Amino acid sequence: MIPGPVKVPQRVLRAMSKPMISHRSADFETIYEDCRSRLKELFETKNDAVVLSGSGTAGMEAAVGGIIGKEDKIITVTNGKFGERFTELGDRYGTAVLLEFPWGTPFDLDRIEAALEDGAKAISIVHNETSVGIVNPAKEVGKLARRYDAIFIVDGISSIGGNEFLTDEWGIDIAITGSQKCLAVPPGLSMVTVSKRAEEMLEDGKGGYYTDLKAHLNKSRKNQTPYTPAVSLFYALQEALTMAAEEGFPERRARMAGLAKGVREAALALNIELFPQVNEHSTYSNTVTAMKMPEGVTDGQLRGGMRKRGVVVSGGQSALKGKIFRIGTMGACTEADVLRTIQTLELVLAKEGVISSLGAGVGAASRAIDG
Ligand code: PLP
Repeated sequence: MIPGPVKVPQRVLRAMSKPMISHRSADFETIYEDCRSRLKELFETKNDAVVLSGSGTAGMEAAVGGIIGKEDKIITVTNGKFGERFTELGDRYGTAVLLEFPWGTPFDLDRIEAALEDGAKAISIVHNETSVGIVNPAKEVGKLARRYDAIFIVDGISSIGGNEFLTDEWGIDIAITGSQKCLAVPPGLSMVTVSKRAEEMLEDGKGGYYTDLKAHLNKSRKNQTPYTPAVSLFYALQEALTMAAEEGFPERRARMAGLAKGVREAALALNIELFPQVNEHSTYSNTVTAMKMPEGVTDGQLRGGMRKRGVVVSGGQSALKGKIFRIGTMGACTEADVLRTIQTLELVLAKEGVISSLGAGVGAASRAIDG
């Protein structure tokens, strides 16, 4: 029950075990074509989609490395761990102008506008900050990016497929997701869409070599990749996208929304405080719920006790180590998975003397999910 990598359905595992083919064959081209067209549906975009062999960070690096040269600035807006990665990437290729908000708190849009007024080639945000369970206002930041003519780069790695994500409507130039999150494929692929405007700014020979977005885009138009891709993961991606389309992209998001609501209602019933602070622009996530560690129990007792009973949840990262814990509700996660998780949480809290009776959390989660 961690926020990725998530459990992989049998159908996807079976697809991965198919015999190897040449990545220069017509069979591979058919697979890639199928993936690229379904990805455009998933990302809600007319932009071109490419698949890189490399985890989500490869997609982030392709975006920043392709757009930001030595003389360029990128505003990196952060309120959690993964926003910081864009800052590191920005400084590696050019200059990152860090706009930092306390972890788990909403962005101040006025401060973002003021930073854009000073001029930057690009601005990046993380849509679903996995480290703190908050969904950041891509639509509003997108409007500002357009107004100041900055390329808008969005990390949708733990978001796309679970939260609403409207690439074209929100003016996102480069959107990124990763295979091991909402699509429930093993880790190792990142999927990236690129607007015409952003593509025109990609220069030959700038940025990374393996992650050169221009090379990937050019080859993708023949449904090929510049270098040998992780073919078995492409089999998996094709099957996972087929499964997602069978369920329906909106229905899939609604399922994850219901499950996350179940976790939040259980937390409320058990007097566990949610970690992120939300407002009219920033919301709780459908894919990961971050909660404060309850008084009277340590991280080791809570997560260790749950692990001993067969349920793995995540802890906090960096300064939040030991202070929060996180439950993922992405991919193929079911109501039964959430109810078992909450039941196990209750068992551990009761054993540690934090609660005196069982059932309140499971009842609340079940009512929220069914409702
Ligand atoms: N961005 C977000 C929001 C993430 O959740 C993750 C992974 O958890 C990453 C970036 C990094 O992706 P990867 O570990 O696949 O490189």
